[in-house]
Amino acid sequence: MAEIIYGSELSKELKDEMKETIEKYKAEGHRAPCLAVILVGNDPASESYVKGKDKACHAIGIDSKPIFLDASISQEELEKIITDLSNDDSVDGILLQLPLPKDLDEASAIQCIHPDKDVDGLHPVNFGYFFLNEPNFVPCTPLGIMELLKRMECDLDGKNAVVIGRSKLVGTPVARLLQNANATVTICHSHTKDLAAVCKQADVLIAAIGRPKMITKEYVKDGAYVIDVGVNRLDDGTLCGDVDFDDVFETAYKITPVPKGVGPMTICMLLRNTLTSYERRVIQ
Ligand code: NAP
Repeated sequence: MAEIIYGSELSKELKDEMKETIEKYKAEGHRAPCLAVILVGNDPASESYVKGKDKACHAIGIDSKPIFLDASISQEELEKIITDLSNDDSVDGILLQLPLPKDLDEASAIQCIHPDKDVDGLHPVNFGYFFLNEPNFVPCTPLGIMELLKRMECDLDGKNAVVIGRSKLVGTPVARLLQNANATVTICHSHTKDLAAVCKQADVLIAAIGRPKMITKEYVKDGAYVIDVGVNRLDDGTLCGDVDFDDVFETAYKITPVPKGVGPMTICMLLRNTLTSYERRVIQ
């Protein structure tokens, strides 16, 4: 029977520590950290993510600056807003909520975020530094996964880690972090042959696919650490991960649930990156 490791509990502890740190800075006379979150259009899922981030910021004393823009905004206007925030000394972090409406160029907009305020770790300069092993900001979900593995007391040195998914946001960067922690890493994707057999070799299995309950016990080695990144909405409105939790529960050693697993850690790492940016800019 697996031990369930809740990101919701770990993130609460980490947020409490950050709250204390921020209170100390404020008591010393410093301004609050500030995160600007830009949402273009009114996609309901994105709106709820932005509201969640706003609430999480306020709860620990970070000023949140949500900016809601009409879907009809031009590329030029959007980039001007991002550039102005990049030049605004009172802003420590900038997050552009993705995806953008399809007429807008995401890559070009992201490049307007100053790399030192790119708390989502998506700017190509930050990606470059990360892959040169000189990280500035690293994407939040992979950071959250590494914190969960730490909480699982998983010593990655020499372990076989399999990551299913190779996206820029999750699969590719988490594989790099695992490799940096001396795991032997295999990255799988939709062209991988005999995925179950590859996964069955994994001491550490990270599922970042976007396919509800695809990972059953046939994919999981006895005693594996399993991190479920997937967030999938079922027809009945409930959320589930990429891992069939009930099926894998007896096989895995430690496992994260969905919800209350990786999701809360992603927001928590966004707050931590914002605090880091603030400390570099304001406290040093
Ligand atoms: P993505 O960009 O769609 O990437 C999915 C990856 O899974 C791709 O590399 C794809 O392979 C691979 N894949 C798809 N079907 C597969 C199959 N049948 N067998 C093996 N590999 C397969 O998604 P993402 O942004 O990485 O997100 C993945 C999941 O994590 C989604 O459910 C998303 O909602 C969730 N997520 C959660 C958080 C959080 O905070 N909890 C954050 C980000 C994402 P190809 O490259 O060959 O297409």
